[in-house]
Amino acid sequence: MIRSTISGLPGVNAFKRTATGFGLRREAKRQAALAGVDEVSKSGVAAALCHRSPKLRSVLARERARIARAMLADCRFCAHDCRVNRLAGENGLCHAGSEVRFFSAQTEVSDELELTPAFNVALSGCDLRCDFCITGASSWNPRAGAGFDARAMAKQAKAALEGGARTIQLLGGEPTVHLPAALEFVSWLPETARLVWKTNAHGSARARELLDGMFDVWLADFKFGNDACAQRLAKVSSYVRIVQENLLWADEHSELMVRHLLMPGHVECCWQPVAAWLAENLPGVKVNLRSGFWPAWHTRQHEELLSPISRAEAERANEMARDYRLNLVE
Ligand code: SF4
Repeated sequence: MIRSTISGLPGVNAFKRTATGFGLRREAKRQAALAGVDEVSKSGVAAALCHRSPKLRSVLARERARIARAMLADCRFCAHDCRVNRLAGENGLCHAGSEVRFFSAQTEVSDELELTPAFNVALSGCDLRCDFCITGASSWNPRAGAGFDARAMAKQAKAALEGGARTIQLLGGEPTVHLPAALEFVSWLPETARLVWKTNAHGSARARELLDGMFDVWLADFKFGNDACAQRLAKVSSYVRIVQENLLWADEHSELMVRHLLMPGHVECCWQPVAAWLAENLPGVKVNLRSGFWPAWHTRQHEELLSPISRAEAERANEMARDYRLNLVE
């Protein structure tokens, strides 16, 4: 199993040993993250990030936001590892610069019922190019939508919490692309707010280190069960290894929920290996198996993606989930 080197810090392990039980284990993770994170310093940019005493999440988020902003000069936030200077106007594969925009911010009641109602903030721009993306026009375009003001958005989020929202979810596109703004947003939010990082799980180790202790729940996609489908449908290489690495890390450092969107013609090649891997490596993890695929965006380029998922395929997929004893949630 892949583990962050943070778990090797003496203070962290000592804390973990004193905590028993599921709830305490989660709290131990959170406290450990807030108390001793210093792995970002290995990136070279953040040598100043050295915390040896517990800090409030908001304080730590503000410090890390500054560090993350500096890291835009050599962007390695996701596994594409472009190393472009986004502060100087260079663009990597996501085409995002230093400006941050959002295309949706509202309270929603939709998937993952235990997390809703949720105040969802969708940042424009993504590092993947999924041809079936239901929000492709905004997700692929970091210049879509309106300018993102972290403090003003946090004010809206707080109002949503007061109005009954249970969580605040940061999504995209892909929020990893805008890590500095995401962290600044966290810095303005109440310490007690339950925060959800809704991600494609294609982030880098550097990004994960900055995110450690910031979000209570990682709601992460595992879209493809093999690299060939990932390359053909989302133009991404080494997909499976990278996502698995992120999921293992997320399970170790926060609460994890995994999402898989069933796609027509991809039950055997994509869902089956995903289900098998989850059963073996993350037994008991919550899995949302979604059957609401709808042909959109560039799906006309792929013959098998021209229709919704059939009832027979959905039943077959659920049968696999039962066989693997997955912990399905809605
Ligand atoms: S976020 Fe990812 S795709 Fe975008 S510039 Fe950085 S490394 Fe490249």
